[in-house]
Amino acid sequence: KSLTIAIDGPASSGKSTVAKRIAADLGLIYVDTGAMYRALTFEALKNNVNIKDQNALVDLLDKTVITFEPDEKGQSVFSNGVDVTYDIRDNNVTNTVSVVAAHSKVRHLMVKRQQDMAQDNGVVMDGRDIGTVVLPNADLKIFLVASVKERAERRHKENKEKGIFSDLDQLKKDIAERDYKDSTRDSSPLKQAADAVRIDTTKMTIEEVVNTIKSLIKK
Ligand code: C5P
Repeated sequence: KSLTIAIDGPASSGKSTVAKRIAADLGLIYVDTGAMYRALTFEALKNNVNIKDQNALVDLLDKTVITFEPDEKGQSVFSNGVDVTYDIRDNNVTNTVSVVAAHSKVRHLMVKRQQDMAQDNGVVMDGRDIGTVVLPNADLKIFLVASVKERAERRHKENKEKGIFSDLDQLKKDIAERDYKDSTRDSSPLKQAADAVRIDTTKMTIEEVVNTIKSLIKK
């Protein structure tokens, strides 16, 4: 049986950086479920679909094929064959994705797609409900946390390196707001699975987090 690792946690907790590294090191597929909700949000904004209209979003999702392709940068995200890797990270998407992800019918369809992707493949999957809903039988479940201040500072530094301007205080507010929405929604809110290992990365390097997780894999 192939290895399945579920990594959950709040916004900007370092999930994708760590998940990508572990997948590459262990030769597993990496599935970024946040990118799937982001791709749908991007399509909704682009096609003027009301993000509060659950049925309209379901129709849109039915027409939207979301795929991942490994490349030099790690992985690119495609929506109906169009590369949306950068577009799905912009502020418009980031600040509205939690509304899209709160609809239970949307989540139901996404969860099915994510489970299909993990079928027959060793996988590292990151998101908010992987250990609780998508892969309840994962071999290893990790719940990554870090202080809001630390997460905002990491994002700020990343932006700076990419030449993107951002305001640190605004980042803190946005992150706290997204945490709040993701953990208070009715439909599978962000929550640590009972059997997940909680790792506070506030004072850890990426290397340390990756090594800690690898050491938890049962031989
Ligand atoms: O992980 P990322 O920050 O890219 O996720 C974007 C958003 O997608 C989250 O804030 C959350 O609203 C939603 N999401 C979710 N369930 C997942 C992954 C992401 O609801 N499994």
